[in-house]
Amino acid sequence: MISIRKLFKEYVDKLAGLYPLEEAESLVIWLFEEFLGKKRMDIIRDEQIEKLPEALQDALDQLLKGKPIQYILGTAPFYGREFEVSPAVLIPRNETEELVHLIIKENPGEGLRILDIGTGSGCIPITLSREMNHPQVFAVDISPEALEMAKRNAFVHHAAVDFRLLDILKEDIPFENLDIVVSNPPYVRYSEKEKMHQNVLEYEPHLALFVFDEDPLLFYREIALKAGKVLKQGGKLYFEINEALGLDTQKLMESLGYSQVRVLKDLND
Ligand code: GLN
Repeated sequence: MISIRKLFKEYVDKLAGLYPLEEAESLVIWLFEEFLGKKRMDIIRDEQIEKLPEALQDALDQLLKGKPIQYILGTAPFYGREFEVSPAVLIPRNETEELVHLIIKENPGEGLRILDIGTGSGCIPITLSREMNHPQVFAVDISPEALEMAKRNAFVHHAAVDFRLLDILKEDIPFENLDIVVSNPPYVRYSEKEKMHQNVLEYEPHLALFVFDEDPLLFYREIALKAGKVLKQGGKLYFEINEALGLDTQKLMESLGYSQVRVLKDLND
């Protein structure tokens, strides 16, 4: 028999170099729950198992190699739903849930036309499609693999989203009369690479994360310019932004003719 309490301790210790203690504990508990159906209380009670399932052993090994748990399990939670993910798409983040929440809260109207640029897993348009008042939702991405995944996620969550392959730096937006354009574009400068976690750097798509230092707001400028041509009068543009570039982003938007520009802080400041 194997003591799951011992097993838990063993793997939390092994993960010590990779994650802060509390995170390591939650990750191991997450896997135990997924593969053994055991919760924190079962570990405290020190339940026994006959043998370690191969799938759990495999998942623990991958975790020790630094693979993000969402890629190991192939799924990530976002705004109360589970999204299929793979290294072809960025893992949805809490900050993006806050952005989505803001859009839902501020736009109660019916039948709004919404576009998400750089949709990745499709977490933004799918959530908006399900949580808003009968919107018409469009989404684009440069990656065919990401679009396939986003389409599967839309299917699973019964969301009607019109997905298109598009390179926003080279092509115009193929939709008109939009009420809202939203994007969480790449905004991490290559010079900021050092402060990123190894598991992010090694596993998540760099295409979705990084921009050159010479022009860190490239995507913001291109999107704002192109959105300006297809947004309705009074339409809105929502971005997730680099915490270090708030003022620069605000100035850029104002210089491009956007009014009432706000920069808001998320829970992580
Ligand atoms: N829109 C997706 C997300 O917010 C992907 C963003 C990206 O790849 N930069 O998770």
